[in-house]
Amino acid sequence: MRLLLVLITLLLSSLSTLAQSGKVDMDYYLPTDVTYNLNIPTPESVLGYTPGEWHVSHDKLSEYMRTLAAASDRMTIESRGTTFEGRPILLLTVTSPSNHANIENIRKEHVKLVEDGSASLSTSSMPIVVYQGMSIHGNEPSGANAGLIAAYYLAAAQGPKIDALLDNTIILFDPSFNPDGLQRFAYWANTNKSININADPQDREYDEVWPGGRTNHYWFDMNRDWLPVQLPESKARIKTFHNWYPNILTDHHEMGSNSSFFFQPGIQSRTHPLTPALNQELTKQIGNYHAAALDKIGSFYYTEESFDDFYYGKGSTFPDINGGIGILFEQGSSRGHAQETENGLLEFPFTIRNQFTAILSTLEAAQGMRKQLLDYQRDFFKNARGEKGSGAYAFGSEKDAGSAYHLAEVLKRHQIKVHEVAQDFSQDGANFKKGMSYIVPKNQRQSRLIKAMFEKRTTFQDSLFYDISAWSFPLSFGVDFTENASLSKAGNEIQDLKRKPTPAVGTSTYAYLMEWHDYYTPKALNTILNKGIRAKVGMQKFSVEGISYDYGTIMIPVQNQSLNKQELASFINEVAQDANVTIKAVSTGLTEGIDLGSNQFRALEPARVAMIVGEGINPYDAGEMWHLFDTRYNMRITKIDTKDLGRADLSRYTDIILPNLWGNAINKGNTDKIKQWVRSGGTLIGYKNVANWFERNKMLDIDFVKTKNPAKNVSFEQRRDFTGAQVIGGAIFEAKQDRSHPINFGYTGDKVSLFRNTTLFIKADSTSYKNPIQYTKSPLQAGYISKINLKAIPETRPFVHQSAGRGEVILFTDNTNFRAFWYGTNKLLMNAIFFGSEM
Ligand SMILES: [Zn+2]
Repeated sequence: MRLLLVLITLLLSSLSTLAQSGKVDMDYYLPTDVTYNLNIPTPESVLGYTPGEWHVSHDKLSEYMRTLAAASDRMTIESRGTTFEGRPILLLTVTSPSNHANIENIRKEHVKLVEDGSASLSTSSMPIVVYQGMSIHGNEPSGANAGLIAAYYLAAAQGPKIDALLDNTIILFDPSFNPDGLQRFAYWANTNKSININADPQDREYDEVWPGGRTNHYWFDMNRDWLPVQLPESKARIKTFHNWYPNILTDHHEMGSNSSFFFQPGIQSRTHPLTPALNQELTKQIGNYHAAALDKIGSFYYTEESFDDFYYGKGSTFPDINGGIGILFEQGSSRGHAQETENGLLEFPFTIRNQFTAILSTLEAAQGMRKQLLDYQRDFFKNARGEKGSGAYAFGSEKDAGSAYHLAEVLKRHQIKVHEVAQDFSQDGANFKKGMSYIVPKNQRQSRLIKAMFEKRTTFQDSLFYDISAWSFPLSFGVDFTENASLSKAGNEIQDLKRKPTPAVGTSTYAYLMEWHDYYTPKALNTILNKGIRAKVGMQKFSVEGISYDYGTIMIPVQNQSLNKQELASFINEVAQDANVTIKAVSTGLTEGIDLGSNQFRALEPARVAMIVGEGINPYDAGEMWHLFDTRYNMRITKIDTKDLGRADLSRYTDIILPNLWGNAINKGNTDKIKQWVRSGGTLIGYKNVANWFERNKMLDIDFVKTKNPAKNVSFEQRRDFTGAQVIGGAIFEAKQDRSHPINFGYTGDKVSLFRNTTLFIKADSTSYKNPIQYTKSPLQAGYISKINLKAIPETRPFVHQSAGRGEVILFTDNTNFRAFWYGTNKLLMNAIFFGSEM
């Protein structure tokens, strides 16, 4: 078999595109049924090579797109912002010169299709809008590299066929969904390329260094952020999307090297129930165009057997709840320049040509189905208006303005209408306060999208999910919520969403008090402690000067600080303004409850936090925390690579975070080193399957609930679905909280919603106060869980704390920072950091 593979490989390489020279010709890619305008610069004239010979960096890609737009009257280019690394987030708008002259009117007419009164519009000669996006995963580069050829083709191709295409289509061409990831990957593939292309899969070229180019700067999978919209690249995309409401949106990816080419539809039974059935039928019809085009060039493909349209946070699914059709493409990856595979030699240019073919077949489908897709979009919104409920949703928080504000911000990004609360009201056991709460009328254009964001679904047609099965935003933001508010509670619609001004802090001669509820209190505390100002945390409730203060209130004494009374007053006011939190000046230490001089106020020390990253650590989990500390709380977090752990001086840190571990990333020597650091006073915080590492190394005494899943009447063919059904891909569970425990400081209710994507169930401790967070008796709030796991989870504990020597070991089995939109549980991690030694 092996010998055969080698023979085939040798045979194929003699016929291959790159051969040994690494040279490719544009003729390999370009259709011959049109002529090409010689005044349009070719990719080679700008890049210095033909696409496929090297992996294009984002810098070069930008240069070519700008050059092309300058030379062609069919294209305009804009930068819609910058990535975390400062790269432009580009968009080309491609259409006929006459459409360009009238583009804003065309856009306005198109958007009328989604509004009330669309019935009178004629779609018979209206252009269709197609949004084509490349390589959201930076190390799936055939999309972005195919984009070079597609952009050239759209600028240079001539003849009646191309004229008709440009007259009837507005193409929003997004040449790189992930500029930072693409740059990172291009660097890897190019720096490891040999002159004599080496297709040996074991070559370093095909095994990127951690964390790889898939993700963005903070290691996020951006193809999960279309709904939460927390990252700059997504903000730009979503703005373009809602500005235009494209009829088709394509998302060009890569998969394993032994695979062929995939296009949607995916697995039909896993389509989200809010997506109309017609959406999938149209997807299938569009698929016929891809099949015909790939047949023509002899490329193999498959459809309907994998991937799905369930989670609306993916690029190919998001359009489905917005009246469009999302299409996922997956090309078997050459990863570098060429690789031996089961299908023979897989060369980079071949992968580019397949993507380019799919780009053109999409445009052909858009021509062929233009009126059908425009009418579908109009009907989608018409039907949505027909099913609109009356009344409104309300959400907010009495004590945490920050989280409620950020949820309102996400809704505004999706052009959802959000109103102020006219006056305070109570409903479903929650108080909705003016200035701290928001009203979302059900009767509005985006009613389906709102439903998709707010609902709590627990029954499903299928038991397998490509991604998460639940994402209910009121739960992830940890805000009070009702879906039964009266519209009469709504005040003005909010046009320009702004934070409520923070009250100025008065000057105190005695102490300052900050309750711990607002999302941004850790940011404020960190600034205070880093300035060398002494602060303490109150372990109990109290009231002073007529105001009650909850568990976890931060107290800053005026006496004996490095700043004098006036300096301290202005510093504290600055901190409050910067973090948007309320801090109060008090003039006495005598309270009802613990007095301010009580030992129940515990001194805090500045947090010096490190996180273990690198080979063997899940980059998503690590990146979410890096992003949280760096962009939300302005806190420094040192990223220590697993390979450097042996020589790192751990005494520099008060806290070390160990994100989800893969395999044996931490050897015996480093394990002992970390244990020693804990015993001498460090707080070690582990997540998810670090539980097993803690148990193995006797750092936590934990008892797992064991589940059994005997296969009865399961055939060989069904075996994958059978085991897959036991996975918790991502669901939401309710836990009760003991609010007097420092891990729960800052929470106002006695319940918290946790995001979970593991099946680690830890038995509750027999000592009740050692279970400060414990799943309720029926904890499933939203999402899919198998019957076996649903029986295992009740009353287990997702949080474990144990002291060891002078230090602490803390475990979370659930992700408190999921994809940057799980605002509701970020506080748990911050409590572990700041109050770990008070537990
Ligand atoms: Zn991908």
